[in-house]
Amino acid sequence: DAQLSPVAEPAERDDEATLRPRLLTEFVGQPRVREQLQLVLEGAQRRGAPPDHVLLSGPPGLGKTSLAMIIAAELGRPIRITSGPALERAGDLAAMLSNLAEGEVMFIDEIHRIARPAEEMLYLAMEDFRVDVVVGKGPGATSIPLEIAPFTLVGATTRSGSLTGPLRDRFGFTAHMEFYAAEELEQVLRRSATILGVDLRADGAAEVAGRSRGTPRIANRLLRRVRDYAEVRGDGRVDRAVARAALEVYDVDELGLDRLDRAVLGALVRSFGGGPVGVATLAVAVGEEPTTVEEVCEPYLVRAGMLARTPRGRVATALAWSHLGLTAPADAPG
Ligand code: ATP
Repeated sequence: DAQLSPVAEPAERDDEATLRPRLLTEFVGQPRVREQLQLVLEGAQRRGAPPDHVLLSGPPGLGKTSLAMIIAAELGRPIRITSGPALERAGDLAAMLSNLAEGEVMFIDEIHRIARPAEEMLYLAMEDFRVDVVVGKGPGATSIPLEIAPFTLVGATTRSGSLTGPLRDRFGFTAHMEFYAAEELEQVLRRSATILGVDLRADGAAEVAGRSRGTPRIANRLLRRVRDYAEVRGDGRVDRAVARAALEVYDVDELGLDRLDRAVLGALVRSFGGGPVGVATLAVAVGEEPTTVEEVCEPYLVRAGMLARTPRGRVATALAWSHLGLTAPADAPG
């Protein structure tokens, strides 16, 4: 049931690469971020120097990797891609950094998960374009300073709060990515449909966009499911009726809730009178791990205004009751 996960499935990476916007002008939505980045990039190009290091912060699937690649493309430079968890040993990072040519872009995804020694090496690299390579062990160890070419680091994180202060301070610019509005997702969908050769009608795009949880990755994934349905059961055209029928097959409802989301709300409302109830109890009621309920379901239910987290436990809002076709008690939060 991964239709609505904001995280990429390994099997969809190729599709994602096909649908990636290549230039800033192709990147839909995020108008503030686009304007800010445009200025950072153009300013640097005028000065003939690599731009400041850039931190991209926001939930999965909103286009951080795409933006990192766009930054390199706009600068006309290669990009070297790695991730925090891959940089377990500082030596691996030193090797990557010393192989960079001037002006290249290094992208570190999930930078909040970088190991401490690598993080400390990064401070010096970001600030002085230098790394200290330690040679030998014990009391005889010496550190040899190594110059590296001026480069631009692009870091991406889903949790900018768990970045250490010193690391955060070394980024000249932080872009905060927001969830996409329905019209922006429709634009993403129209672009993807053109690339994939899908006959997507305006009302079909609106229907898919409304169920995509503000996330382009989910919108593109639902488009592929809807396309399958349209080709197998219809003549390939995706209009509102086709989109609705297809997404019903995949258990994605009008507000983008799936079966588990509805089970959580259903248990909260029917078994616990709307709460408050602890997340562990709620998880048992739907037969899931508490972490699944907490990390997979709740963020969207909270954002959609259907669930509130209170000190005494989870509470269903009036919207949750009405979404399930029930009448909310008078004390349900709005
Ligand atoms: P993660 O951190 O989980 O990898 P991400 O934030 O890096 O996610 P991307 O991999 O860049 O997200 O984007 C996911 C998919 O969504 C891509 O295939 C891309 O085509 C599409 N996408 C994301 N943002 C946009 C956008 N602004 N315009 C058009 N397509 C987009």
